[in-house]
Amino acid sequence: MTDQSIQFLHELLRTPSPTGMEIQAQRLWASYIAPYTTSQECDAYGSTWATLKSRRKDAPTLMLDAHADEIGFSIRYITDDGFAYVERLGGSDVAIARGRRLRFFGRKGEVLGVIGNTAIHIREDLEKAPKLWELYVDFGCSSRKEVEEMGLRVGDRAVYCDEPLMLNSRLVCRALDDRLCGFITAEVARTLHERKIRPSWNIVFANSVQEEVGCIGAEMVTYRLNPDAAICLDVTHATDTPGLSATRYGEVKLGMGPCLCIGPACHPSINSRLENIAEEKNIPLQRETSGRTTGTNTDSIFRSRGGVPATNLSLPLRYMHSPVETAELSDVVNTIELLVQFIASLKPDDVFRHTLR
Ligand SMILES: [Zn+2]
Repeated sequence: MTDQSIQFLHELLRTPSPTGMEIQAQRLWASYIAPYTTSQECDAYGSTWATLKSRRKDAPTLMLDAHADEIGFSIRYITDDGFAYVERLGGSDVAIARGRRLRFFGRKGEVLGVIGNTAIHIREDLEKAPKLWELYVDFGCSSRKEVEEMGLRVGDRAVYCDEPLMLNSRLVCRALDDRLCGFITAEVARTLHERKIRPSWNIVFANSVQEEVGCIGAEMVTYRLNPDAAICLDVTHATDTPGLSATRYGEVKLGMGPCLCIGPACHPSINSRLENIAEEKNIPLQRETSGRTTGTNTDSIFRSRGGVPATNLSLPLRYMHSPVETAELSDVVNTIELLVQFIASLKPDDVFRHTLR
């Protein structure tokens, strides 16, 4: 990663991308990846992909997917005295919401607000997490009219104000899930370009929308692009913080490399190629298992049309769906390297599917 790539990562993280409102961040991502790819396009709902065309005619296609959206809130109701009640976009954690700052995006631009927190001294039910419908936002206004005059209406979306922060070699921010993986795909494209690797497959770098509400963008994109194989990049729970049991959740650590999912959705032929490359090139790789589907875009990708050989490669992350999501930069570097080596290893006649012989 260069200084310029880190600068891009920070800009990408500062750009809000709540589910259903991803297009601004998509444009930023597309302009960064443009010099390293052949074309950039998006679909009706904003899922965006950049294609690196192989020189070979009729080359098969590998899709790398990350999701562009982040969790957030939207305004459900504005009271006469100027407070807003909210709906959540995706899995926003109500238990940690009170006392936080939000950026709202209205028709007159950005408006800041805070989620009210009744003081500890006078709060009843001290131990209890609030219900979603008990959270209210204070815009510093005294009436609904004042709120509306700032350009806010029902449906306007918000994300937390939190910006990138470095703790030693670890990056802390909201929305590392899954902006960090969109950054990884862009850096894979840049690295291929820099090393003058022209893959023998077509490579599609997809940044799909609406993952947090049911892996929807990836469903549309996979159907449209119909790839021959796919690797889905998302985050997974690091279990190396206090109070998490490895016997219950498995062992995933920050700084020990990307994490490969083993489960029915994750095709063994792609998994074994990734594992062989990691071993050959000395790239650390962790393993996790899922007994059913994966809870990521992989679930939309692998069952598209007649089935797409796919797997799920994850970046270990602490504190998922909080404003202090934490990841280790060496894991980002190792994920990029593993993917670059995977792509460089692709032969024109590689087939990642089962056959009867
Ligand atoms: Zn995610």
